[in-house]
Amino acid sequence: MGSPLVGRSLRKGGSRLVAKTAVVTGGASGIGRAVAERLRKDGFQVAVIDLSPTDDQFGYVADVTDREQVDTAVSAIREVLGPILVLVNAAGVEGFKKFMDMSFSDWTKVINVNLNGVFHTIQAVLPDMLEAGWGRIVNISSSSTHSGQPFMAHYVAAKSAVNGLTKSLALEYGPSGITVNAVPPGFVDTPMLRSAEQRHLLGGTVEDHIARTPVRRVGRPEDIAAACAFFISEEASYITGQILGVNGGRNT
Ligand code: NAP
Repeated sequence: MGSPLVGRSLRKGGSRLVAKTAVVTGGASGIGRAVAERLRKDGFQVAVIDLSPTDDQFGYVADVTDREQVDTAVSAIREVLGPILVLVNAAGVEGFKKFMDMSFSDWTKVINVNLNGVFHTIQAVLPDMLEAGWGRIVNISSSSTHSGQPFMAHYVAAKSAVNGLTKSLALEYGPSGITVNAVPPGFVDTPMLRSAEQRHLLGGTVEDHIARTPVRRVGRPEDIAAACAFFISEEASYITGQILGVNGGRNT
């Protein structure tokens, strides 16, 4: 992959060789945790923002729906690790309800985390990327945006909007050296998936789904992390506004 090193700090006139700083939301669990581990292995300084505390050295507890909390966490990270040049938005919540049983508060809760949270974190870190003239944003959406999903209208609406936001920001910030891409995962073995299985919300067990998945296995968080690492690499600098499905062939 391209160099995770950047020879600049945000200090005016300052120039020193430091590792690029990446922030991963939802990095305390599942896909976000795997992304954080992968980026650390690739040489980035990684900070995690999550509702749940982590044992990460640079773990910050914040609710992505709360702009003040996001700004406070981002300022604290910037203070310790320097400008934030990579952002992966993996924080998310699911919800299962028949559309006509869905209260407006059910609807807004899911939209708030999955869509508005992405708005807040991107706005909070973009100034660093603009100043550096380099940035990478990867948004984790969902394979349900390819297919739709009954009882998840709020979730699919939010994740589809994230794909749209990704494409629009790619056009807006490409000229500033910032790429914006999305990875919509399908059927990845995380606490979110297992909790849906336990609540009988998957329409079968994980094993049943494996039998219907072309590559005949469940996705691993590391599969999603690999796609994120590629988008973040220098080799992907000509790739922006793309939606790369990582789903074992369940959606093509
Ligand atoms: P996960 O294991 O539940 O991890 C999600 C993380 O996000 C959790 O640590 C959660 O904290 C955190 N989070 C939730 N709400 C937050 C908020 N308001 N502010 C900050 N952090 C918050 O789920 P996952 O399966 O890894 O999902 C990661 C992303 O992939 C999500 O966006 C999800 O929609 C998407 N996705 C997953 C799959 C799949 O098959 N697993 C498929 C499609 C899309 P708490 O645990 O404290 O709530």
